[in-house]
Amino acid sequence: MAWDFETDPEYQKVLDWADEFVREEVEPLDLAFPHLQFTPLEGKRRDAIDPLKEEVRRRGLWATHLGPELGGQGYGQLKLALLNEILGRSQWAPIVFGCQAPDTGNAEIIAHYGTDEQKQKYLMPLLGGELFSCYSMTEPHAGADPTLFTTSAVRDGDDWVINGHKFFSSNASTASFLIVMVVTNPDVSAYQGMSMFLVPTDTPGVNIIRNVGLYGEPEGQGSHALIHYDNVRVPAEALLGGEGQAFVIAQTRLGGGRIHHAMRTIGMSQRALDMMCERALSRETQGSRLSDKQFVQGYIADSYAQLLQFRLMVLYTAWEIDKYNDYKKVRKDIAAVKVAMPTVLHDIAWRAMQVHGALGVTNEMPFLGMVTGAAVMGLADGPTEVHKTTVAKQVLRDYRPTDDTWPTEWEPRKREAARAKYADYLENEVGNL
Ligand SMILES: Cc1cc2nc3c(=O)[nH]c(=O)nc-3n(C[C@H](O)[C@H](O)[C@H](O)COP(=O)(O)OP(=O)(O)OC[C@H]3O[C@@H](n4cnc5c(N)ncnc54)[C@H](O)[C@@H]3O)c2cc1C
Repeated sequence: MAWDFETDPEYQKVLDWADEFVREEVEPLDLAFPHLQFTPLEGKRRDAIDPLKEEVRRRGLWATHLGPELGGQGYGQLKLALLNEILGRSQWAPIVFGCQAPDTGNAEIIAHYGTDEQKQKYLMPLLGGELFSCYSMTEPHAGADPTLFTTSAVRDGDDWVINGHKFFSSNASTASFLIVMVVTNPDVSAYQGMSMFLVPTDTPGVNIIRNVGLYGEPEGQGSHALIHYDNVRVPAEALLGGEGQAFVIAQTRLGGGRIHHAMRTIGMSQRALDMMCERALSRETQGSRLSDKQFVQGYIADSYAQLLQFRLMVLYTAWEIDKYNDYKKVRKDIAAVKVAMPTVLHDIAWRAMQVHGALGVTNEMPFLGMVTGAAVMGLADGPTEVHKTTVAKQVLRDYRPTDDTWPTEWEPRKREAARAKYADYLENEVGNL
């Protein structure tokens, strides 16, 4: 009997330590140094944060997303899920633990597909937490459909020359390098004709046109860049993996990235539920506490059930990834998690906000940030609709059509068959009456 929902006691101790550490030491960074997670550390900020990273390393919890063969601690996805749901409470926690998106996914593909030189140049400093990276794939006119991408790289002697526009390239302005997905062979299908390049951000021709902010962020101060690649010349060694391998590489990257977001979303949703419950027990209005009112009880019950379902779904999918060690085999469930994620966070954060009344919608509480976060989850790494399509296609693979006019489960025919099967007993039944 292999199913088991208990955490190994030794690892539980690790999680308990992480939980207290994040609440006491890391969550305050969100308020002391807001929106600066992806800005290189310097001065007093470095003095505050380096010792925290050091403590995480000392405990063996640094960069747990990668296996030992790829330069990490090798915790596997299930243990990572249990840790990540703690880190999801805080914006800074993934940085302090060396497992922040998009760097985790970027590190993963360099570890899988990079040459030794590329690993030395990009992966090692990335794992060291000293630099940031950017994944530059989406194009302004093409969005979620990579088959429409036009950014291209053309060979020129030993070099490649990249031209085109990329949109929503997160952290480009502070990243040391970009992983750019481009067309290298327009004569074959996009699935065979696209490649990935590792491009230092200071390469001539990499022009950040503007940094787009999310709603609520001051104009011009966002972290999602529109980049024009104008005759960006890179050497042949900048190619990541083989020519034409971009789609395969993208799937490796996005599979891991999506499930890691989901793990952290559990933590953020739990935080919203915690706040909802505290407020419900604390606030009294119109003759009783909020927690005594059935509508509010409904919010709490629905949120608890939704979060429990989601958590089990994420942990199960993480367990599957560990078991198969092949994202393709778990594609359906990763997509299903991606579909569920924005709704769970949105619903719980929205209810928690409502229970807090007017205070809930102010900039003194985090709920609207969470609701925006939920909307982001429904787009980043692909829109919900696209993932629903993936789930449906994968689910349908296990089914076959029937040639019959009536469905297989059509009851008149099944009833007739059942009566024939148990005819002797049915006759006895009648006889006994
Ligand atoms: C905060 C944030 C960070 C991001 N970071 C990065 C990054 O670092 N690097 C990067 O390359 N990209 C990044 N993205 C871009 C993200 O991957 C795209 O937003 C996403 O792929 C959708 O593209 P689009 O926004 O152009 O929407 P579109 O492709 O225009 O889609 C718009 C809407 O159309 C509908 N739709 C689209 N396709 C289908 C379909 N097949 N079936 C049914 N309906 C459909 C959906 O409702 C969808 O929301 C980020 C996005 C966000 C919001």
